[in-house]
Parts: sequence; structure tokens; C-alpha cells
Amino acid sequence: MMEFFQETNAFGAFLFFLAANTGIFICSVIFCWALGVVFSKKRIFDSWEPLRLTEAFAALGAILLNSGVSVAGWKLWIEGAIVLREGGLIGSLLDCFVMIFAMDLGMYVFHRLAHLPFVFKIVHRFHHRHETTNPISLFVLHPIEVLGFGGLMIAFLAVYPMTLHGLLGYLTLNIVFGTLGHSGVEPFPRKLRTIPLLKYVGTSTFHAEHHEHPKYNFGFYTLIWDKLFGTLDPEYNARFDGIRSSE
Ligand SMILES: [Zn+2]
Ligand SMILES: [Zn+2]
Repeated sequence: MMEFFQETNAFGAFLFFLAANTGIFICSVIFCWALGVVFSKKRIFDSWEPLRLTEAFAALGAILLNSGVSVAGWKLWIEGAIVLREGGLIGSLLDCFVMIFAMDLGMYVFHRLAHLPFVFKIVHRFHHRHETTNPISLFVLHPIEVLGFGGLMIAFLAVYPMTLHGLLGYLTLNIVFGTLGHSGVEPFPRKLRTIPLLKYVGTSTFHAEHHEHPKYNFGFYTLIWDKLFGTLDPEYNARFDGIRSSE
């Protein structure tokens, strides 16, 4: 596989990443829909946001832009500006962990900036058209947001040499968390909030609350930065427990 990436040209790389991003989109939509069915008694929102044509086109645009960003990352890797280092299981797990925390902080900062009134109006309001969510919400993004996320990831990779498996682990977790956060149901068990460290995991309730109350919960993978900077929704604990009260 690595030989393909070393020998292909930009168009070949684009076709590969377009297929990969399309596959990721389809898997995310199916996963989200399946979560809604399996955890139908654990709904956070009464119903999904209706599917609108403009947003479906925006999701397709996000797939295309993500493929373009991937080609930029590939080009930087070919030129040596991004390095993927060798490493075993421990190294890969460590890298994945580091990238989750660093990206969570970076996204927290940019997400707060995106909520400044003039930026929100132009860029981020589009994602917040979804007061509740649906299986494509994760991809209903303004093009600037897609490029901003891609740019942040490339900036991280340019300064931190990841193992390939660490990077693939991060990309998988990114989609899993993004899908969970927009699923409109809470699959995490109630006892999660009592387990040290795991209680800081960004649950479905955590991001769903952000769609309801946009002045809280700016993180994505963890609650840490919101706790630290005082932006965690004060109703978070009660809401998470309340949703699970039927257990
Ligand atoms: Zn969202
Ligand atoms: Zn927001």
C-alpha cells in the first residue's frame, strides 16, 4: 500500500482519497442510523433533524474537500514535510493518545473562535442549522470549517511524526466520536461518569447539548478543556444521568 502512495501522482492519490472519504461517509451514516435504531429507548432528541437538499450537497462538498486536504497531506509526506515514523503497538497507542489530546485542544480553541458573532454568522451557523441532529450532521459543514480542520491536522502532523497505525487509529476515533456526537442517542453506560479518566470522554450527550445550547461544550473528544475553561454545560451530569435513568 505504501508503494502505491510513493509511486502514484496527485490525480491517483485524489481518486484513492475520494473513494476512501466516500466510504467513510457511508459507514458513518449507516453507523449513526444503526445507533438510532439500537438505542431508540435512549434518545437525547425526540426525532432527527429533517434531511434537506442544501445540507446533502454540503456533505458531498465536505467529502470532496476532505479528499483535497488528504492529497495536500500526501504531497507534504512525499516531500518530507510530514514524516510517518516506525513504531510498535505501544508507540502507536501513545501517538493516537497524543493526537486526540492535541487536536481536542486545537479544535476547542477554533470552535470557540467560530462562535464569535461575526465568524459564527459567516461560517459556523451552517452546522448549527441542526438544532437536533441526523446521520449527515457530522458532514454539514461550511467549506472553511472543513479546510480549517484539515489544516489543523496537517499542522499537527508537520510537527509530530506519527506512526501510520497511530494516525489510522486517530482518524477512526475521529469518525466514531463525530458519529456518536450527532447520533441523537446515548449509547454510553450510565456508570461511565463514575469511572476515573473515562468520565472525561466526550459522550453523545456532550455534543448534542452543544447543538441545543451553543454557549457550552466546545470540545469534541473529551470534556477536559471545557472543564478547565469553565464552558461545560452545568446540566451535563443531570442530562447524561437522566437519559440513562431507564436503565
Ligand atoms: Zn455538531
Ligand atoms: Zn458550535
